[in-house]
Amino acid sequence: MRVLITGAAGFLGSHLCDRFLNEGHTVIGMDNVITGNQRNIAHLAGNANFSFIRHDVSNYIFVKGPLDAVLHFASPASPIDYLKFPIQTLKVGALGTHNALGLALAKEARFLIASTSEIYGDPLVHPQAETYFGNVDTIGPRGCYDEAKRFAESLTMAYHREHGLATRIVRIFNTYGPRMRLDDGRVVPNLVGQALRGEPLTVYGDGSQTRSFQYVSDLVEGVYRLLLSDFAEPVNIGTTEEMTVLRFAEIVNELTGNKAGIIMKESERIKGDPQMRRPDTTRAKEILGWQPKVTLAEGLPPTVAYFRDVI
Ligand code: UDP
Repeated sequence: MRVLITGAAGFLGSHLCDRFLNEGHTVIGMDNVITGNQRNIAHLAGNANFSFIRHDVSNYIFVKGPLDAVLHFASPASPIDYLKFPIQTLKVGALGTHNALGLALAKEARFLIASTSEIYGDPLVHPQAETYFGNVDTIGPRGCYDEAKRFAESLTMAYHREHGLATRIVRIFNTYGPRMRLDDGRVVPNLVGQALRGEPLTVYGDGSQTRSFQYVSDLVEGVYRLLLSDFAEPVNIGTTEEMTVLRFAEIVNELTGNKAGIIMKESERIKGDPQMRRPDTTRAKEILGWQPKVTLAEGLPPTVAYFRDVI
């Protein structure tokens, strides 16, 4: 396949580039690098099957030659990033998705959109299955991301229904691993960075909120399988290994030997921060034969090693 991956210099985009290249495909990476980092794809320089175009996909996308698949992963994706770039976040979810869909249609390519567990908002149903419609505050601080992705899903289904485009929607739950940005503000890089510097870990609120942390290789496998499937409805990809943020902080301190403890920062918790999050992954299991394989105990050490290198 000849594949376009938007957001190629980002955490997930760069791992997807690696996977598609390893499978023998040709990859065109695209990114405007506002939240990504070209260092994530530096190792691909000189690879004859890889090329990179620096471009903001919220503007018309031009790609020469045929394409078999378009994977739209461009977007600020951490709460700090989308609070910093709320308009770009809305634009890349809306205009960027429109451009990427138009390109896929013109090239008769498959299209896959990176959606998110954020479309469930602060969920009132637990765990979250794809059939849950969500609980989103449209005008809250996280609304720019949540609504952009909800619109992106709707537009994707409209192209599927109206044009018969082969579309896929992956709803990505919390994912971590090497190449996350140390300063992206998310709990994994924040706490691991603090631990490696010997600082106390900052837990927002009382730490009773839960997340389920999936290692990046499981996500990549799920995306790859979904693209090759013929399933157009959304599919959750995430781990069901759920824990409180406080417990996660304790694990980070145990693993790194950090003795500086944990401090609660009540005021840092962003309004609308989901109290609980765990995917129902029955659909991924049934449709894709996919299940997460990497436990937190297995995935954290290589992640810590990566952050130790870049710190
Ligand atoms: N969080 C925290 N300390 C930090 C950063 C985040 O306690 O230094 C909390 C945050 O309030 C949220 C959870 O960790 O409840 C996960 O936050 P993250 O930014 O990783 O992404 P989210 O899952 O909210 O999109």
